[in-house]
Amino acid sequence: MFRQLALSSLVAVAALSGAALAQYPNRPVTMVVPYAAGGPTDTVARVMGVAMSKPLGQTLIVENKPSAGGILGPEQVKNAKPDGYTILIHHIGMATTPALYRQLRYKPMEDFEPIGLINDVPMTIIARQNFPAKDFKEFLAYIKANKDKVTYANAGIGAASHLCGMLFMSAIQTDVLTVPYKGTAPALKDVVGGHIDLLCDQTTVTTPQVKAGMVKVYGVTSKERVSLLPEVPTFDEQGLANFEILVWFALWAPKGLPKPVFDKLVTGLQSAVVDPAFKAKVNDFGGEPVPVAKANPEALRSFFQAEIDKWRPIIQKAGVYAD
Ligand code: ASP
Repeated sequence: MFRQLALSSLVAVAALSGAALAQYPNRPVTMVVPYAAGGPTDTVARVMGVAMSKPLGQTLIVENKPSAGGILGPEQVKNAKPDGYTILIHHIGMATTPALYRQLRYKPMEDFEPIGLINDVPMTIIARQNFPAKDFKEFLAYIKANKDKVTYANAGIGAASHLCGMLFMSAIQTDVLTVPYKGTAPALKDVVGGHIDLLCDQTTVTTPQVKAGMVKVYGVTSKERVSLLPEVPTFDEQGLANFEILVWFALWAPKGLPKPVFDKLVTGLQSAVVDPAFKAKVNDFGGEPVPVAKANPEALRSFFQAEIDKWRPIIQKAGVYAD
């Protein structure tokens, strides 16, 4: 009788753990955000978290791991247990850091399992409200004449804001003083507060400030104008030929996930990018979800390698390095 009971409870335990694996996820999934709360990456993560929680049937918890250049978040995810309960959201910075950092403690191409692309977002160059330039022409003239006192905020070497500023300064052949933050949320606060002159950041967070008249805007970094800010010209239109940056976002997992778990994350991402509520939210901040054909590991892997190859020579030419 006792033996029989013991045996049946063993069978029950085995059935339970099998069911637990089959039911992944059976608890919340943590999405690591490598920048400060309230910034553009955090915003995409929160919107994405809601969209992916529907197909996964579990909450996605956003965990901010802010650092200049967003280099600590990937390290945390690289070292996390590959069980599907910790994933990384990151952006174009994953592709620029290999050329920018001599001492990066992870290999973006090799140490992660790419899940897929999510969306892209254009950027804007903004200035404090009382910056003395009414248009782009005056803006350029002022920067060139005052390069020793103009300050430019970014989220550290490797951030999108850094990349934009670096390309902009190289395009206008003028360097100004850069001030690094652990995300553009605190940087934007200082521009709005008038403590810093300039910032290049995503429409996600700059649009409300532009519309409220809290900052001045001098252009958008996309090829076409952005429908949210139709009166703002592109930089290309204003004479900086081919000046174009779109910040793309993607999801990665630590290496070595069980296949069924990995597949659930991929299908979860694919349902999210076609979710009309997700699209509406991304459009609200000036971005666009990727077509579903790009929301998969193969598409991210090849796009990511192309981005690494695209940015390396540009960065080498600019001669910027971090240790
Ligand atoms: N996207 C970063 C943030 O969320 C900033 C950046 O990449 O410039 O703060």
